[in-house]
Amino acid sequence: MGLGLGLALGAMSIGSAWFGQRQSREKLKKAMKEEARKQIMLEMSSGGTTFSGSSLDELQARAMAAATKEQMPKKSLSKKVGSFMSQLSYPDEMWQLAKYLTTSPNNKNKATREGDEAYCFAVLAKVSRSFAMVIEGLTDDLRTPICVFYLVLRALDTVEDDMDIPNERKKVMLTGFADRLNDAASCNEGLVGIGDTEDYKDLLKQFGRVVNVMKTMSDAHQKVVMDITKRMADGMVKFVGKESLETHAEYENYCHYVAGLVGIGLSQMFASTESEGAHMGTEKVERLSNLMGLFLQKTNITRDYLEDVLEGRPWWPKEVWSKHVPQGGVVKDLKECGNEKAALGCLHELIADALEQAPFCLSYMKQLKNENVFAFCAVPQVMAIATLAEMYNNYGVFTGVVKIRKGLALLLMEQAKSWDAVKKIFIKFALEIEDKVDPNDPSAMRTIFALRKIIDYSEPQKVPRKGTLEPEEAKAEAKLLLQKEVDHLEKELDAAKEKLEQLA
Ligand code: MG
Repeated sequence: MGLGLGLALGAMSIGSAWFGQRQSREKLKKAMKEEARKQIMLEMSSGGTTFSGSSLDELQARAMAAATKEQMPKKSLSKKVGSFMSQLSYPDEMWQLAKYLTTSPNNKNKATREGDEAYCFAVLAKVSRSFAMVIEGLTDDLRTPICVFYLVLRALDTVEDDMDIPNERKKVMLTGFADRLNDAASCNEGLVGIGDTEDYKDLLKQFGRVVNVMKTMSDAHQKVVMDITKRMADGMVKFVGKESLETHAEYENYCHYVAGLVGIGLSQMFASTESEGAHMGTEKVERLSNLMGLFLQKTNITRDYLEDVLEGRPWWPKEVWSKHVPQGGVVKDLKECGNEKAALGCLHELIADALEQAPFCLSYMKQLKNENVFAFCAVPQVMAIATLAEMYNNYGVFTGVVKIRKGLALLLMEQAKSWDAVKKIFIKFALEIEDKVDPNDPSAMRTIFALRKIIDYSEPQKVPRKGTLEPEEAKAEAKLLLQKEVDHLEKELDAAKEKLEQLA
């Protein structure tokens, strides 16, 4: 894809139509080859059915769409130089960056791993470099179980993310995914070939090795992995084939399934290890864990606007964006010229919505006793609030990927080692955002309110249960709300009738 952009630039400078045409033909062919390859893999993995003419037409249409679709802008060299120059003006971060670049990672743990366990950590480093870095700092009783937990959910997510699997088949695959954990020998059946990159494909192909390591974990840890995988998969099934999220409640549900449950699972793991203990297994901590996940996921969904919209899976909820886009518009319109103000208004509402979890995240982190476990939980949290501050009032969210400076990320990782330090970091970014709030912004008050709860932190009294409502509970809640409205309207009607009688 980087090549595609290079070719387009070349065509512009040469100014030749022929070049342009050849380029699009090549691009289309490449997309068709890619589609064919994916389909073949998929068929091989599902036992091999033969093609009908219509599905070939379908494949060609999909290739055409893939070749002509808009792509994420790549960073040009001048932009890269720009970000390096901006990094230079933060000397404390430059120190961190230099330290990071000149010291080799801690190989102490690495040396003692072998076989399937070594494989798990090697593939983890490939699918998530940053997660692989923070996991090394964990205590011995949690490092491998959490690595396995992450890889199992990553594999599940790879199935969810594969847009080439037909929806009905995907639902079946997700529903049965947790059962794969029962048998290492057959757990990769039908998974071979799935995944966007070679690393994901490798994880699915060698999934049995992850399951082998899981079988060496304590019963309590295995139970957590099985249970959370099942619950997350069941949640994902509800969203298969959805092209957008409608309500804010749906947005919270999705965040609960894909991130809140991770937080809940981690706390359960902490509760059954010596490094932490039973205090991490209470009902209150479970609710807080969910909100830790929601904070990270909402930040990611907000940041990934452009990528998701270009892939045709916008995750911003309609209930929110419909208030901001011009009449009759769609979420895609926010990135169009002339809609900058609406776009920022919508962005600010989603940032405020994410920030509302922050005090609960502080409360969660306050419960942790072990400093290694603390750092493991705190690093993603400080990254999230730094990212929210970077995105606030930043139109870059609609034109590319907004990221925090690498030096800042390293500095935050270094600093996030105690609750007091993390609270300070939260306050620092909250003040930074507050400084940028325009009082005329539609969500100004909501944002400031959320920020003040961070800046003047006090232990939250009530912890909400977000996104965890069962369909029956949700229905009962909706009924209650409607009944209230009906009662209110009936009273108004009676009052109006009475007035009418008096006039008659
Ligand atoms: Mg996914």
